[in-house]
Amino acid sequence: MIRFESVSKRYPDGTVAVDELDIIAPSAQITVFVGPSGCGKTTSLRMINRMIEPTSGKIWLDDQDTGTLSPAQLRRGIGYVIQHAGLFPHRTVLDNVATVPLLLGQNRREARGRAMEVLERVGLDSKFAKRYPGQLSGGQQQRVGVARALAADPPVMLMDEPFSAVDPVVRAQLQDEFLRLQGDLGKTIVFVTHDIDEAVKLGDQIAVMRTGGKLAQLASPVELLNRPADAFVAGFVGRDRGYRALGFEPSGELPTRSEPTVLLGSEAGGVGSTAQDGWVLVVDDTNTPQGWLSLATASTGQITPELLHRGGTLATQGGSLRAALDAALSSPSGRGVIVDEDGRLLGSVTAAQVVERIEALAASRRNAAAAPSSAAEAAG
Ligand code: ADP
Ligand code: MG
Repeated sequence: MIRFESVSKRYPDGTVAVDELDIIAPSAQITVFVGPSGCGKTTSLRMINRMIEPTSGKIWLDDQDTGTLSPAQLRRGIGYVIQHAGLFPHRTVLDNVATVPLLLGQNRREARGRAMEVLERVGLDSKFAKRYPGQLSGGQQQRVGVARALAADPPVMLMDEPFSAVDPVVRAQLQDEFLRLQGDLGKTIVFVTHDIDEAVKLGDQIAVMRTGGKLAQLASPVELLNRPADAFVAGFVGRDRGYRALGFEPSGELPTRSEPTVLLGSEAGGVGSTAQDGWVLVVDDTNTPQGWLSLATASTGQITPELLHRGGTLATQGGSLRAALDAALSSPSGRGVIVDEDGRLLGSVTAAQVVERIEALAASRRNAAAAPSSAAEAAG
């Protein structure tokens, strides 16, 4: 069991990322933290393994105050999986996975044996073991990330949007396999996502967070869908309930607005006037989006890939409304990036604009249902 007791985090610049969080994540269950980008999900997760220290409050692991354990000792019992897998590019898949058992004192042969075992568990054929991460697809890399986290057989797993960067079909496969795996292993899991569909599918329990790092509701999926605690949760959940059905509808021409950009490799110093609200989109010389730059964290020096926030997904003009909404909700600036079929930047949309589209579509469906003859006309 993991218990947050009045946990807050204020960053040195004054940002309150997490505000008086009280949550219990029961043993052997999946607790999902869900909410829009910037609501404090990653900060909450990283406070569990003390990659980030709380400003106040305590986090308990069973009956131990994690603040009294050494971070190294604490992390031995906690696996950690992130969005882009975070694999070592110059080590083979096998060696990536064997890293943790080696660190824990197993000899090379034992560690590799264990690595092969978990690779198989996550559904990766042994032929991938000798490859390097760059030679795998995104979905395969995520499997390796999960295998690495499982290698030391930790009782607790922390997962930060592990499936968000892969396409929807692979994402659904990874989710299914993850549930099957958890059925066998029964770990205590805290899983972060911005996607309410994913939360509902995976969570035994869901914590909905709102901007400012406040808990809006902690409930089972069914309870959340049937009895949202307030307008915010109803909006977040309800909007998605609607777009689950509408998600596969093509978005048509979205009302994109042009998004100011800066070039990767240029100087951050000149960016200030370009940024609308502290975030500026970075592109390469073919106008392909590379990620967002926060002026709060980088206002001088050269803009390098390491500085970029790559969390957000991209949506293609004419793609699904679901993908467009996903792009907006996952973007740290709140502006979803829309690209053409070659991946070149077209502009951005806000979640509000996409929701407007969805609501208009839903309204026209209702009208069509109410007046069948005119619907037939429209369809004809
Ligand atoms: P999420 O994972 O939900 O997108 P985060 O936990 O990453 O949210 O961030 C929560 C808030 O804290 C955001 O406003 C973010 O900009 C801010 N933040 C995150 N890391 C830092 C940092 N190192 N310094 C200052 N502010 C930060
Ligand atoms: Mg995050």
